[in-house]
Amino acid sequence: MSIQVYNTLTRKKEPFVPLEPNKVKMYVCGPTVYNYIHIGNARPAIVFDTIRRYLQFRGYEVQYVSNFTDVDDKLIRAAKELGEDVPTIAERFIEAYFEDITALGCKKADVHPRVTENMDTIIQFIEQLIEKGYAYEVDGDVYYRTRRFSDYGKLSHQSIDELKLGARIEIGEKKEDPLDFALWKAAKEGEIYWDSPWGKGRPGWHIECSAMVRKYLGDTIDIHAGGQDLTFPHHENEIAQSEALTGKPFAKYWLHNGYINIDNEKMSKSLGNFILVHDIIKQVDPQVLRFFMLSVHYRHPINYSQPLLESAKSGLERLKTAYANLKHRLESSTNLTTNDEQWLAKIEGLRGEFISEMDDDFNTANGIAVLFELAKQANVYLMEKHTSKQVIQAFLQQFEQIFDVLGLSLQHDELLDEEIEALIQQRIEARKNRDFALADRIRDELKAKNIILEDTPQGTRWRRG
Ligand SMILES: [Zn+2]
Repeated sequence: MSIQVYNTLTRKKEPFVPLEPNKVKMYVCGPTVYNYIHIGNARPAIVFDTIRRYLQFRGYEVQYVSNFTDVDDKLIRAAKELGEDVPTIAERFIEAYFEDITALGCKKADVHPRVTENMDTIIQFIEQLIEKGYAYEVDGDVYYRTRRFSDYGKLSHQSIDELKLGARIEIGEKKEDPLDFALWKAAKEGEIYWDSPWGKGRPGWHIECSAMVRKYLGDTIDIHAGGQDLTFPHHENEIAQSEALTGKPFAKYWLHNGYINIDNEKMSKSLGNFILVHDIIKQVDPQVLRFFMLSVHYRHPINYSQPLLESAKSGLERLKTAYANLKHRLESSTNLTTNDEQWLAKIEGLRGEFISEMDDDFNTANGIAVLFELAKQANVYLMEKHTSKQVIQAFLQQFEQIFDVLGLSLQHDELLDEEIEALIQQRIEARKNRDFALADRIRDELKAKNIILEDTPQGTRWRRG
């Protein structure tokens, strides 16, 4: 079975067949860098990073591009409010973005193109749309002639007449039609600008992605992704621009992640429930945040709340504890025991289950359920008197590979209470079996991590040193 992907364009799950065998060209719309990212922006960063990792795990070579909108109306407004210039603000929040997504376990894209570094490409793109009759200039502004593109609305599944009802011409706009959208905006007095054939100005928002996709990945790409809120108008406009210019399909698969609610309410500045990643990762382990985000299918809405976050935290700890217990047991395990084949087959079966869940439109929620089953089986196995190195290693390897796909780390600096209890139990067993070397090793290992054991007539007590 191949990977099945839900495609917004066709509203169906389709077999994933990239344009070139084993290669995937993937573009994810990035942030406008006028502030720290909020957890709504963190979701696409995390889910599409995971999809990229999974495709790599399945043997694809992935070219991953994600842009920065480093000049637009929001940045210009922020510059005015803060009394700084646009490039300074953009630079600061690009740096902050990298810090945040790195903490969240996301790898950098192969290219992070910026609008301000691709001005020539963008201007050329607009010029060609004008030449083809898909765009027109009015007093230094350039607009896209939406009605000229007969497929307009195909991604968001809306007819041009439905769209017409919602469209209007703002004061000062000189569009031919309310449906037309800006490709180039003339600079107002005092605003940052670039020179163009239409005078001083800056690009509209949608054109940058069309221009950058084409420059960095080509006319047609495999996956174009972003938040659900980008479907219309942003992605619809990208299709109109790109397909009008090239005459080729723009992207084969369109993937959109669902919304985030905070305590069952929409996140908004006015409700005061606006959560910035920069702030929240000071209180919540970013790995827990990532695990929480992946515990829901990427297309479904996700509800962010303290109890759900707590449950993600304890779930992740449970998995890490199972892994740590396996690791501790590795040394005292022997070569091959009679039950090995059965256990190895069970582990292989769980690996297969993880793959088939992830193949089904990257269902991380069910993939994580398989991971819990793996942990449960590992705990059952560790109750056996004799364990084999081969089985322990097979368990460890599955944990490591799945954690890597999910972008999670198995390391934790501090031993958890359950881990300490498990080690103490192992030490008691070792002493019963008169394996004093192992018992001492466990005590030393704990001591190295500042856990002090005291053997009393009532049993072994421990405390953090
Ligand atoms: Zn975009």
